[in-house]
Amino acid sequence: MQVDVDVLVIGAGACGLAAAIAAHDAGASVAIVEKQERPGGNSSLSTGSVPAAGTRFQREAGIADSVERFTADLMRTGGPTDCPDLVRRLAATSAQTVEWLADAVGARIVLITAYKHVGHSVPRLHAPASRRGQDLVDDLLAAVEKRGIPLAVGNGVRDLISDSNGAVIGAEIETGNGERQRILARKVILAVNGFAGNRDLVARFCPEISGAQYFGSRGSTGEAVLWGERLGAALGNIGAYQGYAAVSDPHGSLLSWTTIEKGGIIVNGAGRRFGDESAGYSGYTPNVMAQHGHCFAIFDQEIFNVTAAEEEFLELANYGGVKKADTPAALAALHGLDAAAVTASVDDYNKAARGERPDAFGRKDFALAPLTGTLYICRVVPGLFHTQGGLMVDDDARVLRADGRPIANLFAGGGAAAGLSGRTGAGGYASGNGLLSAIGLGRLAGLAAAREIKNETAA
Ligand SMILES: Cc1cc2nc3c(=O)[nH]c(=O)nc-3n(C[C@H](O)[C@H](O)[C@H](O)COP(=O)(O)OP(=O)(O)OC[C@H]3O[C@@H](n4cnc5c(N)ncnc54)[C@H](O)[C@@H]3O)c2cc1C
Repeated sequence: MQVDVDVLVIGAGACGLAAAIAAHDAGASVAIVEKQERPGGNSSLSTGSVPAAGTRFQREAGIADSVERFTADLMRTGGPTDCPDLVRRLAATSAQTVEWLADAVGARIVLITAYKHVGHSVPRLHAPASRRGQDLVDDLLAAVEKRGIPLAVGNGVRDLISDSNGAVIGAEIETGNGERQRILARKVILAVNGFAGNRDLVARFCPEISGAQYFGSRGSTGEAVLWGERLGAALGNIGAYQGYAAVSDPHGSLLSWTTIEKGGIIVNGAGRRFGDESAGYSGYTPNVMAQHGHCFAIFDQEIFNVTAAEEEFLELANYGGVKKADTPAALAALHGLDAAAVTASVDDYNKAARGERPDAFGRKDFALAPLTGTLYICRVVPGLFHTQGGLMVDDDARVLRADGRPIANLFAGGGAAAGLSGRTGAGGYASGNGLLSAIGLGRLAGLAAAREIKNETAA
């Protein structure tokens, strides 16, 4: 077959860029097509945190961690899953992934020791010092450019091309000027993320979060699922998603979950708490959703000071997204909330934090609480960030049919593939599951695609 390129990567987020770099470095010719005018996708919007166990960064920081411990954390947090092998595989290769990011890609990442975040029993998130996914994407893009890998933005893939045996042999692309063009490739890597931007698919697979505002990139419109279903691919963990319980409103940026993890609370429009916030930023999303209106995060000066180390939080505070007052009643007045209800909520919570009585909602981790001194408040709404279900893949990111056989030449990673966060709902999301799948599986897909080509050429 006459081909235009060895490996065609569809999508230029973290997964696609990682896949392209890995395939190129393993000897394949590679091209990337991206439907948006800018590369980066959701990866640019993320905090760029990638979890990994047993890295040299952890050793240098004196943190003992292991693949077994990481796997156990993911399994415990995620609950029942359609792909336990994938969880093990990505945990087992996580240190390689992060060290590859630092060494081969040249990504400027550091180990975050200030917090562990949801689902992790030791500090293992590696991220840009700024905690901005855009910095990680910029480093990946610089590595793509340095290698001379062509990247065509504004070129959305409209369909995959298969031969009469069902093997994928390329893709049909709509170019920026509306023309259709076929690109033939030996291997195709789907790095198009999930379907959080496709209302119909969210309603079909994740009805619990249907109707929530979508805060991710517009490109996540579910083509992997739509094309995959047509080609006979199996879907896995399709009801799982990552939500965020505290998107600042009306600013639309994230209120850092550090404010809650370090002891803050969330009250509803009636000024009352409604659950155990330590479920985490994703796990708590359905609780906030069920309030059917604005909610309010409340924390104190000590928590503010800790969180102020995060640039995005400081920006939000500087733009007036976080207001302060000296008493719960004065805090309530800033948003027209019932003063007595907010005062009672803070007082009751503080009693639990001081160990004077059990928390009404079973919260056990109070970190820096009780809440004292100057108090802060931020109006929040729940958001849908990305979906965690997708195409079932094997250990090398090959897309699988329902009978377990791979669809020849087709690979998937990141949000296009079945995720690590359990079968359904928001509670299974451990911090960094999205980017571990994106970069970990993307790299494995690139390596496997290049390896297959070598073997086929040698045969
Ligand atoms: C606000 C926010 C914060 C987050 N924070 C974190 C975090 O700290 N850690 C973490 O692990 N995860 C986080 N996530 C999730 C994480 O961003 C995603 O899981 C991850 O970026 C997915 O990477 P990806 O490469 O699969 O998708 P993306 O980065 O979205 O890239 C997919 C690309 O494919 C393109 N595309 C789609 N369809 C087509 C098509 N038909 N043709 C061509 N191109 C196409 C899209 O335009 C997009 O550019 C966060 C998400 C959000 C929204």
